[in-house]
Amino acid sequence: MGESTAAQPLSSSIGDYVKIIWELAGSGAASTTEIAARLSVAPASLTKMLGRLQELGLVSYERYRGASLTERGRAEALRSVRRHRLIETFLLEHLGYSWQDVHEEAERLEHAVSDNFTERLAEFLGHPARDPHGAPIPGADGVLAAEDSFPLGEVMAGGRVHVTRVHNEEAPVLAYLGERGLVPGRSLEVKEVRELDGVVTVEDEEGVSHSLGGPLARSIFVRLLS
Ligand SMILES: [Zn+2]
Repeated sequence: MGESTAAQPLSSSIGDYVKIIWELAGSGAASTTEIAARLSVAPASLTKMLGRLQELGLVSYERYRGASLTERGRAEALRSVRRHRLIETFLLEHLGYSWQDVHEEAERLEHAVSDNFTERLAEFLGHPARDPHGAPIPGADGVLAAEDSFPLGEVMAGGRVHVTRVHNEEAPVLAYLGERGLVPGRSLEVKEVRELDGVVTVEDEEGVSHSLGGPLARSIFVRLLS
């Protein structure tokens, strides 16, 4: 892997803004209300920051449409997602972190490492395709594999599924699912989907059954098995 020309990550606040717009909206527009809520910033400072990001060519911002990433902004977001997910993988596999603790540590570290470090880390880890939560790791070329899984809550009773990803970064949720082995790589059978409140009951490979409330069932991403 060659050294990148852009070796330094963006300043932490700019990097955070770009990444959060990407997380909220992908290639669409994120509303200022959503962005302000995620970053806990006041509307006035948000408007100022979005103006700055626009000057830098990272974001296009219209007051009533919200903020969307330019091609450059998207590339920056994916670089920072790549760093984050590789660091999480490293912390879990080599430093003994638990899977609910890697996110917070990676949030801190991702601002400190260069692209050169990131590519050496990727090499050291054997170029993993997914992070410990099953999220795809964008390539060094900025390509992100399309998500081919969907939330457990959308599976019908009787379906057999393979867990590919847990789409939730809250430590208590991850700890809960981790303790029950409801993690990427496991197979489950959907026993019941309760219309009333969206609670999904699944049975794992050991025959243990788990009832998962709507938010949990929406966080677990799966692929159907045959
Ligand atoms: Zn994370």
